[in-house]
Amino acid sequence: MKNLLLSLLALASLARMDAARAEWVERVEDGIMGTRIVVELWADDKTQGNAAIDAVLAEMRRVDQAMSTYKPTSELSIVNARAAQEPIKISAELFDLLSTALEYSRITDGAFDVTYASVGYLYDFRKHVRPDEKQIAAALPGINYRHIELDKKNSTVHFARAGVRVDLGGIGKGHAVDRGIAVLQARGIEHALVTAGGDSRIIGDRFGKPWVVGIRHPDRKEEVIARIPLEDAAISTSGDYERYFDENGVRYHHIIDPKTGHSASKVRSATIIGPTATRTDGLSKTAFVLGPEKAIEIYNRLDDIDAVLVTPEGKVLYTKGLEPPKQ
Ligand code: ADP
Ligand code: MG
Repeated sequence: MKNLLLSLLALASLARMDAARAEWVERVEDGIMGTRIVVELWADDKTQGNAAIDAVLAEMRRVDQAMSTYKPTSELSIVNARAAQEPIKISAELFDLLSTALEYSRITDGAFDVTYASVGYLYDFRKHVRPDEKQIAAALPGINYRHIELDKKNSTVHFARAGVRVDLGGIGKGHAVDRGIAVLQARGIEHALVTAGGDSRIIGDRFGKPWVVGIRHPDRKEEVIARIPLEDAAISTSGDYERYFDENGVRYHHIIDPKTGHSASKVRSATIIGPTATRTDGLSKTAFVLGPEKAIEIYNRLDDIDAVLVTPEGKVLYTKGLEPPKQ
């Protein structure tokens, strides 16, 4: 009996020592997917935590290598170069992501459309370059998600016509975040945050308290318009202040209306909350293209989605799951 008690005491103190070594480990890394990556997690010890973060960053670099249109050797660049001529065999990962992209196009009445790039590639927001109306009109027929033909049996993609370009910039960061979370879950990590630019996903809580993610003011960088408590959820924010230039009072920015080839400006920002970062990333472009009323109607139809929109007039709108209590 005494022995048992002693060993129980020993176990208890071991457990205490373990708890003392466990800690939050955090890293911020710039450059992958052209954005800032943040990983924060609760690990049994620092070495283990840092190894897990290394694995997340390696996974995100791998996704970037495959999906980037800036890298001519990426799997996606090869598809863009050749898929109008013949069906191209692609990895299961790219096949699934393209299938998901098409699903989001159908959900959003075509507001989300990865073939936006058929015109989108003519913009360079850093260099203040934009296409003129003639160039847009010539390239516009290339935009239509229905041009993407996927063959499940052969795992191929084919473009129905020439002039189609796909860019996964509207879903790729979310996908990379989800892959990062999968890496952490495989290592048994139960409390973590992974962020790539405007796309984040959280597993677990912060010991009895939710994680709190702030939504920034579209014009005043330091100002927060809402704070959202989250556990086991993903959140994505798109804003017209992320990549843009202003010319003669018009803002040219990186979210493109697939119908017109122009920047879509029906909201200033859209924040989506949902189960995965791929989904929240994919759905955050919709409100810019369709406008707040139609977008909220779509989001309210989806059981697993909530949203916070900032209109051009600065009004903040919520889907029904988030509506603040009436005063
Ligand atoms: P971030 O790149 O910071 O994650 P967003 O999530 O707001 O920003 O995504 C913007 C990106 O989405 C653009 O840079 C472009 O690559 C892509 N995109 C733009 N318009 C559309 C559209 N109509 N449908 C799908 N993707 C789009
Ligand atoms: Mg995004």
